[in-house]
Amino acid sequence: MTATGLWDELLVGEELAHLTTEPAHDARTAPLPDSLQPTLRQALAGRGIGELYVHQAEAYAAARGGGNVIVTTGTASGKTLAFNLPVLDALAADRHARALYLYPTKALAQDQARSLGELGLAAVRAAIYDGDTPTERRRQIRGWANLVLTNPDMLHIGVLPRHDLWGDFLHNLQFVVVDEAHVYRGVFGSHVANVLRRLRRLARIYGAEPQFLLASATIANAGELARALTGEDATVVEDDAAPRAERTVALWNPPLLDAELGQRASALGEASLLLAGLVGRGLRTICFTKSRKSAELIHRFASDRVDATTAARLAPYRAGYTPQQRRGIERRLVEGELLGVTSTDALELGIDIGDLDCAISVGFPGTVASLRQQWGRAGRRGHGLAILVASEDALDQYFMREPRALLQRRVEAAILDHANPRVLDGHVAAAAFEAPLDGGDAATLGPEALERAPHVPELRETKRGWVWAGKEAPAARVPLRSTSADTFLVVDASTGDVLGLAEQERAYSTVHEGAVYLHLGRQYVVRELDLVTRRAVVEPFDGDWYTQAKKETETSIEERLRVERRLGLELSFGRVSVTEQVVAYQKKAVADGSTLATIPLELPPSTFDTEAVWFVPRPHQLEGLEGMPLLLSSLHAAEHALIALLPLWAMCDRWDIGGLSTNLHLDTGAPTVFVYDGHAGGVGIAARGFDQFEGWVADTAELLAGCPCERGCPSCVQSPKCGNLNEFLDKAGALTLLRRMLAT
Ligand SMILES: [Zn+2]
Ligand SMILES: [Zn+2]
Repeated sequence: MTATGLWDELLVGEELAHLTTEPAHDARTAPLPDSLQPTLRQALAGRGIGELYVHQAEAYAAARGGGNVIVTTGTASGKTLAFNLPVLDALAADRHARALYLYPTKALAQDQARSLGELGLAAVRAAIYDGDTPTERRRQIRGWANLVLTNPDMLHIGVLPRHDLWGDFLHNLQFVVVDEAHVYRGVFGSHVANVLRRLRRLARIYGAEPQFLLASATIANAGELARALTGEDATVVEDDAAPRAERTVALWNPPLLDAELGQRASALGEASLLLAGLVGRGLRTICFTKSRKSAELIHRFASDRVDATTAARLAPYRAGYTPQQRRGIERRLVEGELLGVTSTDALELGIDIGDLDCAISVGFPGTVASLRQQWGRAGRRGHGLAILVASEDALDQYFMREPRALLQRRVEAAILDHANPRVLDGHVAAAAFEAPLDGGDAATLGPEALERAPHVPELRETKRGWVWAGKEAPAARVPLRSTSADTFLVVDASTGDVLGLAEQERAYSTVHEGAVYLHLGRQYVVRELDLVTRRAVVEPFDGDWYTQAKKETETSIEERLRVERRLGLELSFGRVSVTEQVVAYQKKAVADGSTLATIPLELPPSTFDTEAVWFVPRPHQLEGLEGMPLLLSSLHAAEHALIALLPLWAMCDRWDIGGLSTNLHLDTGAPTVFVYDGHAGGVGIAARGFDQFEGWVADTAELLAGCPCERGCPSCVQSPKCGNLNEFLDKAGALTLLRRMLAT
């Protein structure tokens, strides 16, 4: 029986929300360009590469023409060769030429270094330069290597501030490769965009104008992302010419147990059924989950459902394994010794673990790009099967009813805002430390940088321009994953390791005492939040509850930047100030979301400035909803549903977005709904909501209309992060309002 025949009998029943087969494509190829250096041509031949995919040839030609390029084709479509070709060609032609490769993680840089080494090209002297590089090796690499692989953090604090050591390298810098560019979005992306501008500026000071070659997962706005990240235009190469095997895609929705409450069977249980069914038929399957705990549970449930011989061929695969252990598991999986692996999605993206038959994603991983990356593990050469098992989350349930939104419409955009002053100021200081800052730098750093210079403390205006008058290098004080320097460190008490950072504006609601905190799929509980030393001390936690903070939120409008008449009402975008006070938290059961306890907290209020989109419904749009508490409940439910669907338009997490709805707002004097960027200063999320308002509202109305629950449930209007603990929500009122807006 063929693989398709094997899984056909599993994919039946009411749980199957959608089934489709994405067709196979033949490769469209182009000959190796004549201009290619003979040594490179030989090396490629040695790897069995005698021709290119059309998009690779296109990227090569665009790079040869001297411009920047962004390649945004599918998973496993040969993006790496697309940017390697012009770079390696240049290195082979000119022994002085230099290239810098940026990877978001050390593991990905190692993977790339390994495959560059395998090419065996004598002209290429590649080396990794990151936090693990021994000091005595560093000098040698700077002098010897012509292809340096590093990460944004190292570039930011290790390379740019010490550019005098890199003078030769910068002078000869021809190419900067930015792989996995879609990862650089939101706060992190806004910082990296400034790091790349600082790099361009220093290269120019040393007499070089490097070309940027970017590669990204498929997104809606590749050209815009390249421009936002580098400050320059880029040719977009997006016509994927790689061959593709047929792929069956199944959307699987756990059965509805209680229609009134919208309660469904557990996604973990369904996933383990599918996993057991697939491996029981001898199909090699990888199953992705959001937490380590779920990965372990699915592994255990699936093992219980199959015979002992098959069970012995299942394994969990998680963060925390050494690279050797991971590669061991990957090898056993590819060779067929292992049949099924459950993994957290913390697994490094982009690393090729070979060809499997099936991939199951348990819960939408947050972006279509990462879902496609997970699915890409299945059936690279033969017909594969990809499954999404829906969680009860609103976006998951929306996709089950509107599969086209997931499989066909490409709306998800990677957004960032390098000019957010909370992000920019630290880089202005760093740039001034690196070299005096004057009007000429607007060309590389952007005009906003010069505008901010007078506002940055410790900068002094001199005849040479703005110079750094502080003590140590400022870059070290600018974390790339936060918009404020006032972050809390999250420290594991059992090991002393720093697990991450919590931004001031979110620390009180995410790492308050007693909060359950998730890191790389592992659970921790916060033992202590020290407001003075700004540390949250956590320890590993095995309980089966999660926590939700209760908080009071206020917003005030600081500046209206854009006002337009949209959907029959006045839609505004601008700067707001948000004040939140966390007053209590609830412990809730993982199994059914029931409340186990409510515990009061005493924490000070915290205030931050950010960007918001807000609207005041017109009286006729609220007709019949004016009474209280119906008015508030309708607005509140609309706000929650809008927040749930915004990540479909702007690549972000719903935790990156905040909201407030009120029957009477002091600044507008009317009932108002606010949706704001959860990061101080804003990173473009609210702005995207403003731009795409009509589509966003239409999606939200569809979400509410399609949810089978009677009066609201976790799959439509209830939010896991509601500061009011989901009180005062009216689904019908929200739908009435949104429909009236769309009807105008
Ligand atoms: Zn519902
Ligand atoms: Zn709420």
